[in-house]
Amino acid sequence: MKTIFFYTQTDKDLFTKNQNKWIEKGVKLKKIWQLKISCMPNIKDFIRKLTFNFFRTINRKCELCDNKFDSLHLFTECKIVEKWEIDLYGDYKRNERIKSSFYQIVNSKVGKFTHSFILNWSIWITRNFIIHNSQVGIHRTEMINNAHHILERNIKITELNQIRYLILKGQKIKEDYFLDFLFFELNISKEIVRKDLR
Ligand SMILES: [Zn+2]
Repeated sequence: MKTIFFYTQTDKDLFTKNQNKWIEKGVKLKKIWQLKISCMPNIKDFIRKLTFNFFRTINRKCELCDNKFDSLHLFTECKIVEKWEIDLYGDYKRNERIKSSFYQIVNSKVGKFTHSFILNWSIWITRNFIIHNSQVGIHRTEMINNAHHILERNIKITELNQIRYLILKGQKIKEDYFLDFLFFELNISKEIVRKDLR
């Protein structure tokens, strides 16, 4: 007689332990993966690696604040990153970034999501720059404390590259696409222009 095994597969089984932890915290992983975004390949790759918990630290501690590290820590909890952001663009923008990149994923706000990941990517490369260009101790602490300037430069470069990418791809850009951009936008004549910070 043939034995048939039945089992039910819940959503929980589809994710890794860490991904389930994120989902319990309210991160909308499935929605993030379903979004149709048009952004540079390096940022797309970054989103994929981040949500698959690809990033690790050697001793599982955050190199910036010394607290327990997982991929989400840097972008939602790290007090050092929070300080950079408040120094650069304030609390409101930081909260918007966190909400629209992890917790409130809305199809119609894909531009906001994309810009939040321009910021996340810039935070990530700022952290990497510090780790690779400083020695542990006073030097690193000093660099960390002044890193909002490095973050600012990285956001500028990333915004510019994203705009160039859209132009090269011939993407249709909605009028409100650049609402969240901090430094650059396209004017009516399709020229890249600087925005005032405040
Ligand atoms: Zn940290």
